[in-house]
Amino acid sequence: MNDSYDVVIAGAGPAGAQCARDLARRDYDVVVLETEAEDEFPRQSNKSTAGTFPSMMSAFGVPDDVVMQYTDSVVLESPTDYYVREQPGAVLEFADFKRYLVSDGRDEGAEYRFDARVTAPIMENGEIVGVTYNGDEAVYGEIVVDATGPAAPLAKKLGVVDLERQNHAIGIEYEFEGIDVDRPGFADLRDAMMLRLDHEIAPGGYSWIFHTGEDTAKVGLCYIQNGSHQRYARDDFSIDDYLNHWLETDPRFRNATRIEGKQHRGSAHIQPPGRMHTDRFMAIGDTVPTVDPLWGEGINKCMQSGRMAAAAADSCLKHGDLEPTAENLEVYETLWHREVAPNVDNRLRMTKLLYLAENDRYDRLMRDLNRLDDETLSKANRGDLRAIAKLLRFEDAPLLARFARQQFGLEFGSRLGIGR
Ligand SMILES: Cc1cc2nc3c(=O)[nH]c(=O)nc-3n(C[C@H](O)[C@H](O)[C@H](O)COP(=O)(O)OP(=O)(O)OC[C@H]3O[C@@H](n4cnc5c(N)ncnc54)[C@H](O)[C@@H]3O)c2cc1C
Repeated sequence: MNDSYDVVIAGAGPAGAQCARDLARRDYDVVVLETEAEDEFPRQSNKSTAGTFPSMMSAFGVPDDVVMQYTDSVVLESPTDYYVREQPGAVLEFADFKRYLVSDGRDEGAEYRFDARVTAPIMENGEIVGVTYNGDEAVYGEIVVDATGPAAPLAKKLGVVDLERQNHAIGIEYEFEGIDVDRPGFADLRDAMMLRLDHEIAPGGYSWIFHTGEDTAKVGLCYIQNGSHQRYARDDFSIDDYLNHWLETDPRFRNATRIEGKQHRGSAHIQPPGRMHTDRFMAIGDTVPTVDPLWGEGINKCMQSGRMAAAAADSCLKHGDLEPTAENLEVYETLWHREVAPNVDNRLRMTKLLYLAENDRYDRLMRDLNRLDDETLSKANRGDLRAIAKLLRFEDAPLLARFARQQFGLEFGSRLGIGR
């Protein structure tokens, strides 16, 4: 087997597999090392609800056969109210989607090695020149990419990322049949992706129902295990307990049964990205992390980051004499901040503010969303501060004060190195 490539990628998730597709299409020698076995891929990494939008499908040439259900709307729910926005989307079968990315990458010329758990960088003169996998096997590359999601074995050892425990978000989901997707008193969830803000069900996070056709849906919840979660959490409740509690108390699930073998769980970090690259090395996808903090849209963002890393690698490798030094790969970080997540700081602040709010504020938020025009809401969603201000009211002063105290505390604490 060849042990020397232009680019070595660890991890065959959306980020790594897309990076490989783009590089192979440009005729680079690229290998992807994936820890899971090929015959059951993806198993543990089959973690995503995989709700996405047409822009992602067309930008990356994703075929219709990995779509479980096309959707027409996104619904936001609070404990007693809801808001419906017409917006076309698609709920993918995440496993089929991952397998498609692998097979298409192979068709383009990328090599895949499954059962290959990457453990550490191989260093020479202070620079990464390859990786070890499965203990004693090695592979070398001009450029190495860590796309292993939150595992990040290379990025962590190189000191490129610092994924913090306090920012760890966890999620769990089951697929069900027998759901009442158009229950009187609730929004019509046929052909919809619904996200629910309700601390009773997902303290410091949100829960969801994504329709997958007929009476079936993906049902799950996630939260960041931080202050907001602790403020609203119940004693000794695990994430599974919260999901069970929702299933037992919401009438839409009265006749629902779990579809066997269809459960997904995973995690990501919701924190500002730090450094993403160094000499001969880039971290992409949720290793950075890249997932959108507010609603957890990670597939599109992570694939975009893979694409930007491929462009940065191309810009060095196509000129044989341009070393992939940190300086020459800097373009990756520039593209990440400009194209992938242009408003990440504002969106992180919005996320913190949203999850701090109380349940009755969520009900008022639904009324405000129904009141405001689409343009203001789109701007607010993009992190525009003026538009966000239109969603705030005089009664929000205590919430904003709490938010300011938390922000100040965090900034002050991080300057002192507390909480790291
Ligand atoms: C419960 C849940 C629901 C979600 N729902 C949505 C949604 O509806 N829409 C959306 O857009 N996003 C959603 N996301 C987010 C999205 O799934 C992620 O952001 C995205 O999968 C991240 O892609 P990635 O390629 O960076 O990492 P990952 O998907 O984590 O892929 C990493 C790959 O690396 C492999 N790997 C790990 N360690 C090693 C190692 N040491 N060596 C080799 N390989 C390794 C893994 O097996 C995996 O295949 C959800 C996430 C969760 C957890």
